Amino acid sequence: MERLRVHLNEAALRDNLRTIRRLTGPEPAVMGVVKANAYGHGLITASKLLIRHGVQQLAVATLDEACHLRDAGLLLPITILAPTPADGAREVVARRLRASLSDLATAWDLHRAAVRHGQRVPVHIEIDTGLGRYGWPPATAEIERLAALDRLVVAGVYTHLNGSGHAELVDQLRVFEHAYARIVTALGHRPARHALASTALAAGLHDRTRWEIVRPGALLYGLAPRDKSVPAPAGLRPGLSLTSYIQLLRSLPAGASIGYGGAYRTSAPTLIAVVPAGFADGIPRQLAGTGRVLIRGHDAPIIGSVGMSHLTVDVTGIPQVTVGDTVTLIGGSIDVQEWADLAGTVNTDVLTRIAPALPRTVIPTPHARGERSA
Ligand SMILES: *Cc1c(COP(=O)(O)O)cnc(C)c1O
Repeated sequence: MERLRVHLNEAALRDNLRTIRRLTGPEPAVMGVVKANAYGHGLITASKLLIRHGVQQLAVATLDEACHLRDAGLLLPITILAPTPADGAREVVARRLRASLSDLATAWDLHRAAVRHGQRVPVHIEIDTGLGRYGWPPATAEIERLAALDRLVVAGVYTHLNGSGHAELVDQLRVFEHAYARIVTALGHRPARHALASTALAAGLHDRTRWEIVRPGALLYGLAPRDKSVPAPAGLRPGLSLTSYIQLLRSLPAGASIGYGGAYRTSAPTLIAVVPAGFADGIPRQLAGTGRVLIRGHDAPIIGSVGMSHLTVDVTGIPQVTVGDTVTLIGGSIDVQEWADLAGTVNTDVLTRIAPALPRTVIPTPHARGERSA
């Protein structure tokens, strides 16, 4: 009996990529964002599925994630969406990763590592158009000095938009366009441009930009864009479900207490199922008394408390309920957004807390059956 398992729906990921292609047409390269364990879906398993269905490049947040992808034998372009620490420059060059540049010191580190390796290193220049973390200020003159570092190949120039709503996003794109024009003059060639993540793609901005690369994360996994003022594209499908099983059934009389500190007291004879999944696995504690699971197609409310390694649900009245029954925590009518709303956070926060150590199983598309991976 599997204690707790994450299932990836291959057909859903494929269809989400088709939805992205409906927004972009066939031209731009899709750089799939797989940071934070592919938004909790499982870095390697999810990346392989995304590549199978048309993602041409990957982006991660850290050098470690990029190295895991290379260790898994993935040879496509991988961009690290953050500055590389000085002691990581050698690794970036040796593994043929693409670094992001926000400052000259990092550029020099990479240049020197590339000289030592007798190689050149592809980089992406990041411009800060308002997020205020990574990226050069748009008006910087420093970037002109990159032209002298002949071991760096500027493969791309990008920004990460923070705008909310169409008009704000367009303003930021204009700032980026000015910065890009100056970089082109300084370098004497036209690197690929990329800015559009899920919100801007859903806002239809690819029609306006038609740049060489798009950089979605959320949409790949069937998640609505972060910005609620931008409607989610039709047809998104959740990529992930989460299941456990009934470990134990308990019949409790009226007036029995359940959970730490008597979190819940039964008002009538109640049938309780214990499920071996808790907050150490990423189940939000706030679901106690508010959330539900699905058993035999019925809602079973989560009562008592969500413990470190288990939770309790009320299964009174579910016909034929029995030990070993599958418990759906996320899936069917339970969307991860329901958890996020109950826990007072965003869907990506919930997903990235699902314990990385849990097994990830692919539910293959009908024509890909037999290619199961763990
Ligand atoms: C996370 C991230 C993305 C993807 O954002 P979504 O809103 O999930 O599509 C794209 N670019 C950068 C730099 C990011 O950090």
